[in-house]
Formats: sequence, structure tokens, C-alpha cells
Amino acid sequence: MERVTVVGGGLAGSEAAWTLARLGVPVRLYEMRPKRMTPAHATEKLAEIVCSNSLGGEGSANAKGLLQAEMRRAGSLVMEAAFRARVPAGGALAVDREEFSQYITERLSRHPLVEVVREEVQEIPGGLAILATGPLTSDALSQAIRRRFGDHFLSYFDAASPIVLYESIDLEKCFRAGRYGQEADYLNCPLTEEEYRRFYQALLEAEEHTPHEWEKREFFEACVPVEELARRGYQTLLFGPMKPVGLKDPRTGKEPFAVVQLRQEDKAGRMWSLVGFQTGLKWPEQRRLIQMIPGLENAEIVRYGVMHRNTYLNAPLLLRDTLEFKEQEGLFAAGVLAGVEGYLESAATGFLAGLNAARRYQGLKPVAPPEESMLGGLVRFLATANPQGFQPMYANWGLLPPVEGRMAKKEKREAMYHRGLRAFEEWVASLGRLASA
Ligand SMILES: Cc1cc2nc3c(=O)[nH]c(=O)nc-3n(C[C@H](O)[C@H](O)[C@H](O)COP(=O)(O)OP(=O)(O)OC[C@H]3O[C@@H](n4cnc5c(N)ncnc54)[C@H](O)[C@@H]3O)c2cc1C
Repeated sequence: MERVTVVGGGLAGSEAAWTLARLGVPVRLYEMRPKRMTPAHATEKLAEIVCSNSLGGEGSANAKGLLQAEMRRAGSLVMEAAFRARVPAGGALAVDREEFSQYITERLSRHPLVEVVREEVQEIPGGLAILATGPLTSDALSQAIRRRFGDHFLSYFDAASPIVLYESIDLEKCFRAGRYGQEADYLNCPLTEEEYRRFYQALLEAEEHTPHEWEKREFFEACVPVEELARRGYQTLLFGPMKPVGLKDPRTGKEPFAVVQLRQEDKAGRMWSLVGFQTGLKWPEQRRLIQMIPGLENAEIVRYGVMHRNTYLNAPLLLRDTLEFKEQEGLFAAGVLAGVEGYLESAATGFLAGLNAARRYQGLKPVAPPEESMLGGLVRFLATANPQGFQPMYANWGLLPPVEGRMAKKEKREAMYHRGLRAFEEWVASLGRLASA
């Protein structure tokens, strides 16, 4: 009997292999460790947690809480392991990393339908396959992906700008315009000289996230972070991302002293990123600085900026919302390589890729979860986001359609949580044994 190939035994690949096996499909899971290690992994265990031991906040007030609940409904191995290995962490789901990975390694290794092969895969496999090799995909496989899909479809560095929720922007203070009268696709937040001076000073003083040793070399090569631009001088930002030239404020008829531009990230226009504001600053510092920008005083940040080494595909160009490659039926991507960020998000996309590879195996069409669910919102974003400067995404409320009616923010989130979970449960039920029609 032919097996489905899963490449990468991390969070996504482990969940994908588990989903396939649970649906009665034989699977061969390739993991290159311990023969070849990555700069971040320290053990030979499957689903190793490389940094923080948290899978995010729990409950109905958290976007990750909704994804956790969905994953439990989907029969996730990662969630099963997380509950067995959990440690107290306030409102978050944190785990004992040793116990967590040990449990997953044992469950997969002992499953009669799973064959674990400790080898590096250097070419894209034929037949039904899932690529889940993560942010530190080996060089040989990265080259093979490049050869197949082209250089600009694969990124090696994540230089992400923060993204804010549209509904939290004060539109009275911003104006819509494109530079030199081009299409008015941008939202522009104008700053006076005094506001710029204070912002610049705060940026100079802000605290940075410390990169790992092995990341430092690449830190400035890929894309210059906004805090580094500030260090180069008072004027640098005014000739860079905060350049006001060609942007007349219709209320004054003049160009402001400085400007912060926002660009639409998703098709529905719920999420907007700060153009050219890639940053490695600590998250509370990012929040403090963004809230100094006129129009963004109450901005809700749904994705913070990051600067780190990463390997990921330009998902909107390459993938469908089922995580299948547009150009190759039967080939799927999952995890960070597919354009998500986070342990939980990686596992969740592993589940969906596993489900859909199993469906292909059974002669059925791949499916996507409903758009009201967090997993549905996430994969729709991957398939339809703006491909220009595409950056990986994690679970957040901006991925979901808003709920109708006037409500306080907390009630809105609760309504979205319950609506999403209900839709996901109905979807799972409609699949019968998950993979059946
Ligand atoms: C340094 C670092 C810190 C991070 N910290 C966090 C954090 O604190 N919280 C969080 O939520 N997310 C974090 N992430 C992001 C992300 O959530 C994790 O990397 C997560 O493990 C990604 O899951 P994955 O399955 O896509 O990749 P991984 O879990 O990395 O799994 C990929 C697997 O593929 C294997 N592999 C690679 N190439 C090949 C090949 N050619 N053949 C066979 N096997 C191969 C690797 O050895 C690895 O085991 C971090 C990422 C990095 C790099």
C-alpha cells in the first residue's frame, strides 16, 4: 500500500502524520534530526518546542483560545499532549517541553500506520506529500523548492511590520491618498514636527528583542528595521518610511511634516500594516510607539513586527485555502513553511493538510474549514492575502468576519468565539469520520 509522505517531524508534520494515521492512511514521516540538526532544535524528539513553552492564552477572550478549542474538536495530538504535559501559567496553555515532545514521539512511533524515517529529504517528493519543514528548512530542500517555484516564492527572513485592526484606527485623523495623486490605496497618519520629534526620541530609546547568535549575521542584510533607521539620524526616517513627499492632507492642502502609511493586508480590509515599519523591538515598546502616532492612539495590534530568520512560501501565490499547491495536485504545505507563525497555528495547518491529503488518498476533494472559525480565517488569509511583501500570520481576531450589532469589545470577542466554534463543530460533524464526503 502506498504511503503518504510527510516531510518534517515538527509541530505541523507531527499533527499531519497523526491526522493521516487516525484516518486509516499509512504515512511515512521524514525527520532529519538527529543526523542533521537545525540551529534551534536541541533534541531528536518529534514536535520539539524550540523557545517559549506556551501555546497561547486560553478561553473565549483569546484568538488562540478559539484555535485551541477547534483543535481539540479536531482530535489534535498536539492538544492531547499539551493537556497531559501542562504546567501552571495563569490564563495560558503552557507545557513541560520534555514531556510534551516525548508523548508525541511515542504516540507516533508506536502507531502501526506511521513509519518514522530519520533522514533529510533533499527533493520535493512525488505522490501524495506534505511539506512541513518549518522555519529552518534544510538548505538542500530549500534549493529544491526554489528550483521548482522560483526564488521570489521563498523567503529566508521575516522582516514584518506591525498590523492593526481597521476598526481601531481613528479615521478622523488619517487621510486616504496615494503618493503624487496615485490610487488612494493608503491610509496616511500625519505627524507635525513636534509629534515627529517625540516619536523619534521614543524610538531611539525603545528596547529591542535580542536575536539568537545564529541570526545576527542576517539581521541587517535582508531589510533595515525602523529602529536602525532612527539610529542613522534624525532625518533618515523622513527620507524613508515616514516620507511625506507627494502626500497632501486634504484638510490642510499641504504635505505634513512626516507621515506613517498603512496598507491593506487582507482582502476584506480588516487588517492594515504600517508600511516600512519592520521592527525587532519588544512588543510592549511597539505598542507604546504605535499609540504615539496620530490616528493610532487606540490601535489594536493584531500582529507585532518581527525580525528573524525564517523560511516560508509566498502562500497567496502558491497555495489554496486547502493548503494544496495550486500547481501540483496532491502536494500540500503546512506550518511555518506554509506562511503561519506559532506552535499552535503550525499544528492546526498540519491537521488540515493531513486531513486533505487523506481525502485525496480516498479520492475525495480537499476542503477548508468555515470562514468564521480561526483555522478557516487563517487559511483563507494565506490563500488571499496581499502577495506583495507577504508575511507569516498567527491567530488573531482580524482574520474573522466581524459580528453584527453594537457591543463592547469583550462581548464581541465572545460572540466571535462561540460563532467560530459552533461553525467549526458543524463542519467537523459534516465530514463524518473527518475524511469522508
Ligand atoms: C528560534 C525560533 C523560536 C521560536 N519561538 C517560538 C515561540 O516561542 N512560540 C511560538 O509559538 N512559535 C515560535 N517559533 C515559530 C514557530 O511556531 C515554531 O518554529 C514551530 O515549531 C513551527 O512549526 P513547524 O512544524 O512549521 O516547524 P518545526 O517545528 O521547526 O518542524 C520542522 C521540522 O522539519 C525538520 N526538517 C527541516 N528540513 C528537513 C528536511 N529537508 N528533511 C527532513 N526534515 C527536515 C526539522 O528538523 C524540524 O524538526 C519560533 C521559531 C524559531 C525559529
